Amino acid sequence: MSNALQSMNPAQREAVLYLNGPCLVLAGAGSGKTRVITQKIAYLINECGYDARGIIALTFTNKAAREMAERIQQSVEKKRLKGLTISTFHALGVRFLREEAVLAGLKPGFSILDSTDALGVIQELLATTDKGRLRSVQQQISLWKNALITPDDSEKIAQTPDEMDAARVYRSYDATLRAYQSVDFDDLIVMPATLMSTNDELRERWQRRCRYMLLDEYQDTNVCQYQWVRSLTGLRDMFTAVGDDDQAIYAWRGATIENLAKLPQDYPALRIIKLEQNYRSVATVLDAANQVISRNPNLFGKKLWSTLGQGEPIQVVVMDNEEAEAESVGMRISASRFERNARWKDYAVLYRGNHQGRLFEQTFRELRIPYVIAGGQSFFDKAEVRDIIAYLRIVANEEDDPAFIRAVTTPKRGVGQASLTALGDTATQLNCSLFDAVHDELAATRIAPRQLEPLKVFVDFIRNIQWRSGRGRTDGGAATPAEGATELLDELMKYIDYERYLYDTQEERAAQSRWQNVLELTNWLKRKAQEDGLTLAQLVQHIALITMLERSEDDEDPDAVRLTTIHASKGLEYPYVHMVGVEEGLLPHFGKDDEYGDANKDAEALEVRIQEERRLMYVGITRAQFHLTLTWCKKRRKAREDLIREPSRFISEMGLETGVKTVVDPFSGMTPKERLVRLKEMLQKKG
Ligand code: ATP
Ligand code: MG
Repeated sequence: MSNALQSMNPAQREAVLYLNGPCLVLAGAGSGKTRVITQKIAYLINECGYDARGIIALTFTNKAAREMAERIQQSVEKKRLKGLTISTFHALGVRFLREEAVLAGLKPGFSILDSTDALGVIQELLATTDKGRLRSVQQQISLWKNALITPDDSEKIAQTPDEMDAARVYRSYDATLRAYQSVDFDDLIVMPATLMSTNDELRERWQRRCRYMLLDEYQDTNVCQYQWVRSLTGLRDMFTAVGDDDQAIYAWRGATIENLAKLPQDYPALRIIKLEQNYRSVATVLDAANQVISRNPNLFGKKLWSTLGQGEPIQVVVMDNEEAEAESVGMRISASRFERNARWKDYAVLYRGNHQGRLFEQTFRELRIPYVIAGGQSFFDKAEVRDIIAYLRIVANEEDDPAFIRAVTTPKRGVGQASLTALGDTATQLNCSLFDAVHDELAATRIAPRQLEPLKVFVDFIRNIQWRSGRGRTDGGAATPAEGATELLDELMKYIDYERYLYDTQEERAAQSRWQNVLELTNWLKRKAQEDGLTLAQLVQHIALITMLERSEDDEDPDAVRLTTIHASKGLEYPYVHMVGVEEGLLPHFGKDDEYGDANKDAEALEVRIQEERRLMYVGITRAQFHLTLTWCKKRRKAREDLIREPSRFISEMGLETGVKTVVDPFSGMTPKERLVRLKEMLQKKG
């Protein structure tokens, strides 16, 4: 037996070695499910002689995929790893659609619209600017897509006003996307799944390719992903799925736990393996997690134990308000790092909503605590980053109308709204993209030369870059090879002259920080192009996908505190965890309509919500290896109003007897300056 197999417990080993049929590993947090997947891939290649090209492992985030790839590299020779697929569902969807573009009715250079762009399309169709309404329509369409409900069906089942709105635009939304030669994130899964189920030749081809499949975080797959997996694994049913029903936290995105319950029905030969030893957390943490989750109904019974010792008591700290919370957490981390001789990256701050991170960012900056936003999509959502990416998208796909509009108007090129509308009418009449309409003679009859000229210059410039980047070459680039991505990118940036635009339109400080972000983006793109030997055109095709869940695929691992939402922390572990804002209203989170759990609300629906929030709490707690601190604020500001808060019900559900210690913030009632002095005293005493 190999060393790797020896280091696993018997149940884990069974899961790795089992190859006689489909296999489901069902177990709680930290029990080594992900480890089973990495070991099994190594086993398939090293011991069973599988060709890596036939193995597909699917994870939930890019980061998880990257971590998995790193782990496997430690146990398998590099040359035997060639062709191994470890990716997210969405990344696999992109690859599938690029290869099968023709069958999907797309051109290979199609664009992937992120949710902001997709929202823009809905806005046009609905002709409203009510953000709330738009988002709710967007979410509804997304839920339908993921449940494989077609526009036709949606019209039949729509009932509420929002649903009717959504059904009304669903069809034209899809049609508009196709007209732009683009897809949204949901399409990346829905289209492959639908194509595979309707096209026999295609299905058989992919089934031959996919000899073994491994699925992490199986509890968070949705109907459509399940369908796709079913057709990919096909008749052989060779797959291993691992999951934990108690960690299902994506119901709002259409994931359904029923997929877990369905597996044994759909696959009667399914071998179910349970793991019970937790290798991650000390007993205080594990017991608290077990206590909380025991209040939820459970699909499959399971209990976790660990041999990592009792551990320190969990701390619950009461704060005056959210500013005190951010400062106190920062100071505690500084003090603890010193005391324990730990690294910054051993600490994580977990919160329920992205917006909570901002205050921590600001405060940590002031306190000079290095931090990284884990799983933050914030970078790619920044206006300046999106501006530059719009240019790249146009280079990749000139039919991407939203990108075209953004690029020609940022910086302003003297093209007014009226001209753009006229161009839009022209494009509609010619049934072509805005880009292609510019040079048509019809445009010249509608748009004044002074306005048309800059548009023509723009189009000509982009065409030139496109050609030189290797797009549309039929000779495969043999006769005139594509120019390097770095040089072309530099040329593009020079043309955009974005730095000047920033300084012309913004205050100096804002311009400076935005320009930094742009530089960061371009440097990262160049590095990526160099490492992977990509042309500009190829590079651009990957961008939208990376923006989706996480920032970059090759972020180093700096020594910095992790700031992250609980959702994005799934599957990860940190030695010391601070969960903040553990209050009624935030965790469990209530929306606008049901603030503080209005008793008149549908009790059953509310209970379902609370259960989902409880699983989120469980995910959060179980990220901690050695110590967990929870904080809540007596007061929290919301839209200029100070709300009185109550501690989360989940705190009492943890059970005091499991070693929870409630403490009052030692910095309570102090000014920031007094706090610093106090911290220094504390540190000196220790030193
Ligand atoms: P989650 O549900 O949070 O995703 P998981 O079940 O996937 O957790 P892993 O991340 O695979 O758990 O494992 C948790 C930790 O325990 C990791 O640090 C892993 O390396 C370690 N571990 C797993 N199995 C063993 C083992 N047999 N011996 C020693 N350490 C192990
Ligand atoms: Mg895992």
